[in-house]
This record gives sequence, C-alpha cells and structure tokens, in this order.
Amino acid sequence: MSVVLFTLGGTIAMAGVGPGEKAVVTRLTGAELVAAVPGLDTVGEELDVRDALAVPSADLTYRRLLDVVDAASRAVAEGATGVVVTQGTDTLEETAHLADLVWPHAAPLVFTGAMRNPTLAGADGPANLLAAVRVAASAEARDLGVLVVANDEIHAARWVRKTHSTSTATFASPNAGPLGHVVEGRVRLLTRPPRHAPLPPVDPARLDATRVALHTVTFDDDGWLLDGLADRRHGLVVAGYGVGHVPSALAPVLGALTERMPVVLTSRTGAGPVLRHTYGAVGSETDLQRRGLVNGGLLDPYKAVVLLRTLLAAGAGRDEVAAAFARHG
Ligand code: ASP
Repeated sequence: MSVVLFTLGGTIAMAGVGPGEKAVVTRLTGAELVAAVPGLDTVGEELDVRDALAVPSADLTYRRLLDVVDAASRAVAEGATGVVVTQGTDTLEETAHLADLVWPHAAPLVFTGAMRNPTLAGADGPANLLAAVRVAASAEARDLGVLVVANDEIHAARWVRKTHSTSTATFASPNAGPLGHVVEGRVRLLTRPPRHAPLPPVDPARLDATRVALHTVTFDDDGWLLDGLADRRHGLVVAGYGVGHVPSALAPVLGALTERMPVVLTSRTGAGPVLRHTYGAVGSETDLQRRGLVNGGLLDPYKAVVLLRTLLAAGAGRDEVAAAFARHG
C-alpha cells in the first residue's frame, strides 16, 4: 500500500536561486521535500512521489488543479491508500474546496503547504508534510472528503480559510473548528461531518470559458464595478455587509443582474451565515432574495465563487444553482 504525493510548488518547495539571493522561488523537487522530513519512514506506507507542477499557487488554475485531482483519482483506483498534494497556501482554501466538490473516493485527499520556506529557521513544511501523510494513510480519515492539514490540525476543505498572511497557524475553520488533530503522530478526530455527493466531472474547456465575478461591497459603495458586468461574466458572488446586506441603491442593480446571470449573496465578515428572514429594509437579505439573489448560506465569498463557477460550467441554471447552494451552503 502507498500514499501518493503530488507536488505543485508554493513556499513549501521554495529556495533561493543563488548564493546570497534571499528571495525564494519554487525549485525543490518532491524528492528533496521528502528528504527533509524526519520520521516519514515511521508512517508505515510507501511514499510514491510525483512532481506535477512547480508554480506559486497564484498561478494554479481550475484546469491545472482538476488535472491533478484526476491523477489522484487514478492513483486511488490503482490502490493508493490516500493522496497528499503540496502547494502554495495562498489559494489552498479554494483549490481544496474545488477538489472536495468533485472527489468521489472514500480515500483521503489531503492538501498541505508551508508558511515559512525551507531556508528559514522553524520552517513548517516538513512537519506539515509528515502530518499530511499520516492523515492520508489513516483509516480514520476515510470518508471525510478532501482535507487540509497544517500546524497539526485537520480541517475540512469546505470550511477552511487562510486567516493570516504570515502565521504558521494561518489555517482555521471559523464556522466549525478543526475536525481533529495529529497528536504524537496519531490522527485524533473530534467530529465527522456528513459528506455531500460529488458533483459530476466538469469539462475543463467549459470551466476555462466560464467566468464568475466577486464584488465585495464597501462603505458607501456606488457599485460602478457592476456596470456592464453581465456582458463579461456568467455569474456573480456578492460579499455583502454582515448578514447579507448592501446599500439600498445597489439592490435594484443586483436585482436587474439576476435577470441575466445567477447572483449569490454571501457575507464579507469571514464567518457566520447570510440570514434569510430577519431584516426587511431595501438592500437587506429578504429584499435581495425577493429580487432573485441566491442565499450563499455559510459559504464564504471565495468558496462560493468556486461552487458557482463549477456549477455554471456544468450547465446549471438558476434553480440548480439555488438547490446546490441550499445543500453546500
Ligand atoms: N505565495 C505562496 C504561494 O501561495 C505562499 C505559500 O506558499 O504559502 O505559492
């Protein structure tokens, strides 16, 4: 039995380009990452290392990520116990969520990365990689969908957020907390959330062609960025104030957009739900829902963009989008 490791780049695989050069770029191979991890041999599974990409995570795309998920899927079909993906932490909350939406297996698919590159004191990559491999190899992590492991915490891909730009404790699940921890090398789960049925595979060409905008509402927002949006994008996620509110002047603008494309309402606060039936003013959640906006529930704006784009690329109409957000949100 083996755990398969796909490396995509990111800080975990970065080093300087020459003597005296402090700025780091992605250049370490999977073999080099693995060589820096003490104790990997104690996991009891062979590690099958595959270098897939070597990019900062800002250069990952839906197509690139889904190619890796396909390769991971084949590895599991061929008998792998679990799969680990290393990548940059910047977009990990989105890539792991995308993978989770389509991952059909009981076997764990575990994402990890690092906040301190390997040239720094206290680099966190080796510990994160070891913990991720332990989770991918464990029977307890089966049937949990896609997981994110960092700082010895195990998070559900659908809830996890990058919450700090430099801290090694950056990954958190504000709405749920971690699903568990890795303690003295053991996977200790605290809770097992129910899984959603995977979405059908999406044609990468259609994903490339489907574009979704995110508009974060700001103080005294006049909404000028929304002008002409329906000619350029196929869907919109609105990150509203608090429980899902926008200035009253924006409400008819968003209502008109729903005639042209699905518009999903989320909260810009970083945690908590969009409400459904508490406030009644123009621009409140009840008003916006009446105008056709879809309630994003507990999904944060970035995860809502991933879900909406995946649904639209698969040909979903407004009702299917609403049903999917009712399930996933
Ligand atoms: N900018 C880096 C990246 O996402 C940060 C990281 O790896 O943590 O590739």
